[in-house]
Amino acid sequence: VVHNKLIELQGNIRVIARVRPVVQAELNSGEHKEVVDCTTNEDLVVHRDPTTRTRFEFDKVCDQGSSQADAYELVSPLVTSVLDGYNVCIFAYGQTGSGKTYTMEGPADNRGVNYQAIAEMFKVSAEREEDVSYTFKVSMLEIYNETVRDLLSPSLDDFNQPKVLKIRQTNEGNVVQGLTELDVMTSSMVEEAMKKGGDNRSVGSHSMNMHSSRSHLIVTVTTAGVDKHNGVKSKGKLHLIDLAGSERISKTDASGERLKEAQSINNSLSALGNVINALGKKKVEHVPYRNSQLTFLLQDSLGGNSKVMMFVNLSPVSYNMNESLCSLSFAARCR
Ligand code: ADP
Ligand code: MG
Repeated sequence: VVHNKLIELQGNIRVIARVRPVVQAELNSGEHKEVVDCTTNEDLVVHRDPTTRTRFEFDKVCDQGSSQADAYELVSPLVTSVLDGYNVCIFAYGQTGSGKTYTMEGPADNRGVNYQAIAEMFKVSAEREEDVSYTFKVSMLEIYNETVRDLLSPSLDDFNQPKVLKIRQTNEGNVVQGLTELDVMTSSMVEEAMKKGGDNRSVGSHSMNMHSSRSHLIVTVTTAGVDKHNGVKSKGKLHLIDLAGSERISKTDASGERLKEAQSINNSLSALGNVINALGKKKVEHVPYRNSQLTFLLQDSLGGNSKVMMFVNLSPVSYNMNESLCSLSFAARCR
């Protein structure tokens, strides 16, 4: 039996599925039966059981063997468009362990989208030096339990945590009040800032991995350009977003803080899906940006003529299949 579930995309969002390879721990434990098969550059098939294969179609599929450069190549045109004055969001969506952080941040010896994007922005701005002068700023925040925290603030709050900030609607778009924005002139200055933000993120949490899988991380680079010939100004924004893990936790396992975390993640990821879904409709309809901090914060970079790219990260192995199918149906809803 072959079920076809084709994802037809419209509007300004593109979705890329990236399937990670089986990892060593899975090989060691014997839990490495693969159920995701990347059939073409645009399709993948999930083998639910020997007779049920479900096909999903994307703008692009990065298979188990795809390199960091392969993944970056797909988003590079969006990154350079920031220098032309566009607002761009690049998301990584998926369950914990599916490869979001690998795709966005990547290991030190094999850097992902964030580092490559920043390097390319500075490279292209240098190439345009005779015509446009650019300035860059970087900020970094996380959203945990619907609370925004500034990861680059030089001081912590009274509880020794990164400062909590509020989002406010202004004529210039929605801004995070008091967010630290660092002037940066080189990619290594941005890398230093990201390192510092990462260190602040783990302050006060006993497990960095657990904490990072339950909060959204947003690195934002803003650019201002002035045309040296005619003085025309442009402003662009690049948001690089490593989302909280999309896995459901069973209601029986969770209580107290853990349940609250799970509910806020679930709420903000469905709010994101609903916003993208509303934006994709041919007929203009109400876009529910205000339903989560994530969508409210990104309001001016999701709609209008902004550009959105979403990596849907997937584990290839059978014990993750149900979560993979949930991620794929989220992707289907983003059309
Ligand atoms: P997430 O951020 O979604 O929780 P990670 O990025 O931490 O997941 O990835 C989980 C594990 O899989 C890590 O050990 C990571 O190194 C590995 N991994 C993820 N994607 C890839 C990839 N494309 N190639 C090689 N290893 C990967
Ligand atoms: Mg991660």
